Amino acid sequence: MKYQYSDSVQITPHFNSCEFRCKCGKEHEFSVSDELVQKLEQLYATLNCSKIIVTSGFRCSAHDKAVKGSGTGQHTLGNAADICCYGQDGQPISSKVVCCKAQDIGFNGIANITAAYQYTHVDVRPNGKWYGDEVHGNSTVTDDFYKYFGGEDMKGIDVSVHNGNIDWGKVKADGIDFAILRAGYGRLASQKDEKFEQNYAGAKAAGIPVGAYWYSYAMTPEEAELEADVFLSVIKGKQFEMPVYFDLEEKKQFDLGKEQVSAIMRAFLKKVENAGYFVGLYGSASSLTTHTADDIKSWYTIWLAHWVDQTNYNGAYGIWQHSEKGKVDGINGNVDMDICYKDFQTIIKGKGLNGWGKAEPTSTPAPDVPDTDVTVTIQIGKDSYKGTLKKE
Ligand SMILES: [Zn+2]
Ligand SMILES: [Zn+2]
Repeated sequence: MKYQYSDSVQITPHFNSCEFRCKCGKEHEFSVSDELVQKLEQLYATLNCSKIIVTSGFRCSAHDKAVKGSGTGQHTLGNAADICCYGQDGQPISSKVVCCKAQDIGFNGIANITAAYQYTHVDVRPNGKWYGDEVHGNSTVTDDFYKYFGGEDMKGIDVSVHNGNIDWGKVKADGIDFAILRAGYGRLASQKDEKFEQNYAGAKAAGIPVGAYWYSYAMTPEEAELEADVFLSVIKGKQFEMPVYFDLEEKKQFDLGKEQVSAIMRAFLKKVENAGYFVGLYGSASSLTTHTADDIKSWYTIWLAHWVDQTNYNGAYGIWQHSEKGKVDGINGNVDMDICYKDFQTIIKGKGLNGWGKAEPTSTPAPDVPDTDVTVTIQIGKDSYKGTLKKE
């Protein structure tokens, strides 16, 4: 389709012609492929985006050359867009994920653009394929982005007392990158998982990032708050690189219906969130679809349980529990296997959540400052530091 520079045609629900205008500075007409926009709309839905910013759409030949293109590429034909996709949390979705989904949708040209993996080029070239990673030049890098980027997803496990005594050194050596530990269940402190302390210490000693989860029996939001209190007391003083999760999966809870179940989830999640934790929800593909309100799925990170080779769950999720029958060195019997798609560690430590705290002093010197040196104590995280400040 051809458009005038001044046009503001809503092509699909989330894309307007003006987003594809040439940015050379001259207000000239341009073309945009309908197929391109239709596929971008599909991408928007598949990734559950909050927005997609088109940083470059159509380019006239002069502008294409100015941005170091050939002057005849897909952007000059109106077949291409450079985009940044944002998730429901308002954060950019990794270009690695965008490339994989763009491949599923059938874009013929796909490439990561920047070293930060935030921007993605997609096009609907009529002939041939180009799957690139401009961090590594301009050539085709793969015929399958899942394989190409897959190596970087984190492989994990989740464990409880049912997995017995675990040799965490062997687990680490077997290539496990993270572990989610059951902290306990219900609303009594005595229901702390018997192996929680042991697993926490063992995983930490082996250098495996950990998260935790709490198994719920709550039938009301009030009970869920009590569970949250116990959970918070059990994990107090510990530091988690991965999120902590609420696990609700009892049949009698689901029998309460979606509204009550969602109210129970909100009560627990809100309380733990307010206590400074990066908290999420564990759920099966079906319970997430039928028993979990949309506001919960869009605000909290999801740990999806779906024991299949390829999940068809189409909501967003950060971790996927894909099997309950994994084998890992150092663990007797079957173990739950997980894949993590998000760099939670960076987010959690960056925000000082999950017990990490901000590296800022929380106490100040005594108000009466003497005329000499002063001795001060400051608190960083759970450690305190004492030292002398010299008077200038
Ligand atoms: Zn131009
Ligand atoms: Zn491009």
